[in-house]
Amino acid sequence: GPKSAALMRRKQAFVSPGVGTTMPVFAARAAGGIVEDVDGNRFIDLGSGIAVTTVGSSAPRVVEAVRAQVAEFTHTCFMITPYESYVAVAEALARLTPGDFEKRSALFNSGSEAVENAVKIARSYTGKDAVVVFDHAYHGRTNLTMAMTAKVAPYKHGFGPFAGEVYRAPMSYPSRDGLSGAAAAARAVSQIETQVGAGNLAALVIEPIQGEGGFIVPAPGFLAALADWCSKNGVVFVADEVQSGFGRTGTMFAVEHEDVVPDLVVSAKGIAGGLPLAAVTGRAEIMDAVHTGGLGGTYGGNPLACAAALAVIETIEEDGLLERAREIETLVLGWLRALDDARIGDIRGRGAMLAAEFVDPATGEPDAALAKAVAGYAHSRGVITLTCGTWGNVIRFLPPLSISDELLSEGLDIIAAALKEN
Ligand code: PMP
Repeated sequence: GPKSAALMRRKQAFVSPGVGTTMPVFAARAAGGIVEDVDGNRFIDLGSGIAVTTVGSSAPRVVEAVRAQVAEFTHTCFMITPYESYVAVAEALARLTPGDFEKRSALFNSGSEAVENAVKIARSYTGKDAVVVFDHAYHGRTNLTMAMTAKVAPYKHGFGPFAGEVYRAPMSYPSRDGLSGAAAAARAVSQIETQVGAGNLAALVIEPIQGEGGFIVPAPGFLAALADWCSKNGVVFVADEVQSGFGRTGTMFAVEHEDVVPDLVVSAKGIAGGLPLAAVTGRAEIMDAVHTGGLGGTYGGNPLACAAALAVIETIEEDGLLERAREIETLVLGWLRALDDARIGDIRGRGAMLAAEFVDPATGEPDAALAKAVAGYAHSRGVITLTCGTWGNVIRFLPPLSISDELLSEGLDIIAAALKEN
C-alpha cells in the first residue's frame, strides 16, 4: 500500500541496510494472530515475531500489567534500587524450569546477552575456558555468540575476528545422518574428547530443538547422552531455550520432551510477550560461583519486562496454552502430511514449532529456491511465514498460541496454494 511504500522509502534513507526486513509492509497493530499494516491490510501471523508473541501480540494480561507498571515507574535499575517483580520472575523460573533443586536466575535483555552470560557463569564455576556448540547452531550476534553461531552468511561474514575457545561438534540431524541419538552423541563426544578435552571444557551449549539452523529435532536420546556425559565430566550443560522455550513446543521447555535436566537454561523471546527480557536459570551452586557485581547491566530485568513476563506466565497457565500448542502440532502436522509433495523431504518439530524442509526429490539436495518462492507467495497473499535452515530451504511455522483454528487453516491453505503454484 501507499503508506507502507512511503515508509519503506524513509527506511531506506535513514535505517542501516544491515537491518533487513522480511515483509514489505509496516505494522500498525497486531492481535489474535493478525498483523494489520498501516494501509489496513491484514496478515495471518505464522511467525510470532520470531517465536516471541507466543501468548499473542497484545495479550490482555500483558497489556494490562505493562500499563499498570509504566504508571508506577519505568526504571530504577535493579542493581541500584531493586524491585519485587524481578525476584518474582526468578521465583517463577525456579518453579518452571526442569530440575528439583535449588536454583537462581539472572535477567538480561536479549537471547544473545543471556547465552553469553551463561558461558561467563560456566567459566566462573568450572575455572575452564572452552565452549562446545553444534553444527547448525544459532546463539546470537554479539561477539561471543556470533562465534557460537554456525552459519557464516549473513551472521558472521566480514565481522571477525571471532571470540576464541569455541569448538563445534556434529549435531544429530536424523533425516540427513540417519544416526540414532546414541550413535550421534557418541560421534560428538568422541570429537569433543579428541579435539577439546573435558578438562578444558567449561560448557556445552545446545538448542534442544535448533531454531534458525532449521528446526532440527535431534534423534531421541541424543540430548540425554550429552547431558549425562557433561555431568560425568564436570562440564556445564546449557540448554539454549531462547526459541524452543516458554511453552512453544507444548511443554514449558523443550528438554522436557527428552526428560533432560540442564544445569543452566537460557530463556528469552516468548518469556515476556515482546518486551525485551532474557534469563539464565540454573543450579544454585553454579550460579553462586560468580562474584557479586560480575553479572548485570543497566536494563537487565527492566520492571516493564518483568511485569510482562509475570503476565505471560499467568496467561500460559490459566489459558491452557501448553495444551493449545499440542493441538496446533496435531493440526499442522496432519495438514503437512496430507500435502503429500515429494519436494517436502522432512516434516518435523514439536508443538507450535514446526517445519517442512524442501529438497530436490531426485537427489535430496536442499531446495532453497522453493522455500523462498513459497514464502514470497505467502507474503503477497497475506500470510507472514518465515524460512530458516543452514541452506535456507526450510519453511517454519511459529503461530501465536492464541491463534484460532480457522485463521491457522486459512494461512495453511495459502501455503498449500503456494506449493501448487511453484
Ligand atoms: N538463541 C537462539 C536459539 C535463538 O533462536 C536466538 C534468536 N533467534 C538467540 C539465541 C538470540 O536471541 P536475541 O535475538 O534475542 O539476541
